Amino acid sequence: MRIACLGGGPAGLYFAISMKLRDPSHEIDVIERNRADDTFGWGVVLSDETLQNLAANDPVSAKAIGENFAYWDDIALHLRGERLVSTGHGFCGIGRMKLLLLLQDRARELGINLKFETNADSAEDYRHSYDLVVASDGLNSRTRTLYQDTFKPDIEERLCQFVWLGTHQKFADAFTFIFEETEHGWVWAHAYQFDDDTATFIVECAQDTYDAFGFGEMSQQDSIRVCEEIFKDHLGGHPLMTNANHIRGSAWIRFPRVLCDKWSHENVVLLGDAAATAHFSIGSGTKLAVESAIALADCLHNERDMASAFARYEQDRRLEVLRLQSAARNSLEWFEHVERYLHLDPVQFNYSMLTRSQRISHENLRLRDPQWLQSAERWFMNQAGVSPEAPVRTPMFTPFSLRAMELKNRIVVSPMAQ
Ligand SMILES: Cc1cc2nc3c(=O)[nH]c(=O)nc-3n(C[C@H](O)[C@H](O)[C@H](O)COP(=O)(O)OP(=O)(O)OC[C@H]3O[C@@H](n4cnc5c(N)ncnc54)[C@H](O)[C@@H]3O)c2cc1C
Repeated sequence: MRIACLGGGPAGLYFAISMKLRDPSHEIDVIERNRADDTFGWGVVLSDETLQNLAANDPVSAKAIGENFAYWDDIALHLRGERLVSTGHGFCGIGRMKLLLLLQDRARELGINLKFETNADSAEDYRHSYDLVVASDGLNSRTRTLYQDTFKPDIEERLCQFVWLGTHQKFADAFTFIFEETEHGWVWAHAYQFDDDTATFIVECAQDTYDAFGFGEMSQQDSIRVCEEIFKDHLGGHPLMTNANHIRGSAWIRFPRVLCDKWSHENVVLLGDAAATAHFSIGSGTKLAVESAIALADCLHNERDMASAFARYEQDRRLEVLRLQSAARNSLEWFEHVERYLHLDPVQFNYSMLTRSQRISHENLRLRDPQWLQSAERWFMNQAGVSPEAPVRTPMFTPFSLRAMELKNRIVVSPMAQ
């Protein structure tokens, strides 16, 4: 098959690799508008589970990626001068640029043709000269817009504003969330190490706060200076850095949640962020992109023709995408409404933050960090006036006072359930 991948991000490169591994006779061109070592953003997070999926698909690139991972187990919260740490969360991070360079090397080794500094104008031009066109052209996919009558994209810009920065300050021991109160409202950062001396530092705030600071009218350097001032107690004198210099004006954006009704049109198929996005606060965009690339390559090799392969790919992956998007929505909505929780004690705030996507339950927290959970349960019991000598129990079994009535626990059974 002659295949064109429009866009050489993780989705396009990993799909090309996966196809070539299944059949070396495929002729594959990856068309990328940027230079090989141009990239936006800093590090990305992947899970151990994703790395296992990559290893099953291509042990060679998985090994190279694994060797360049920064691992961490803890999540730290900084709030009102306190630092709370829980463990057992198991993440790994890699520089986006490093990931792309490793995938490019692997693609070259397999005989894939990488064409950099080439703008793919219209998928319609490629559609006639290639058997298969993969629209891996990212969040603002032109191909998705070109065939929007078929794909019917549903794009929802979320409420918060954020900017993706980097720093040489070390956050090596934990995935770190920092909440700072400013004269214009709360501003927070999601920070994680992705190589020996660089960390991702995403700054986020509500639209009102963004407007009051005037971030939208500032140059990138001016907005960086304001962020450095806000987070100065956490940066150890290190500057914040941008690598979005190609973007004119402010590099802040509101996260667009992308969902499409259909993922294929004739011999064109959507992959990665072009098809669906997952909010960065659950760190699953790259996971979706590479796992969908594997699924698409499998379907194209296992199904009898392209139409059935596309149907199968969409059927198999849509459920996973919706599952992740649902967790991502819970998580991003928690940040959008974070001011509702910021008056809470840091212990309770931390509990709320850790369980925000609803993928991590109370008992799952016990598996991750029994000590930390027990300390949170003890805190809850203290608030409910239980004696410090009483054995620790889950919040459900702590007493509850309603005016003069003292209930032994917090369990309510509805008449229907009886
Ligand atoms: C702030 C932020 C933090 C993130 N953090 C994480 C994280 O921690 N973990 C995670 O897994 N994901 C994260 N992501 C998401 C992740 O970056 C994307 O989900 C992932 O890169 C999707 O891969 P992709 O190949 O589909 O798209 P992209 O990586 O966007 O690649 C698309 C490529 O297509 C090229 N292109 C576009 N149009 C054309 C054209 N017309 N011609 C030629 N080339 C073109 C672009 O230059 C680009 O290289 C984050 C995203 C953001 C915004």
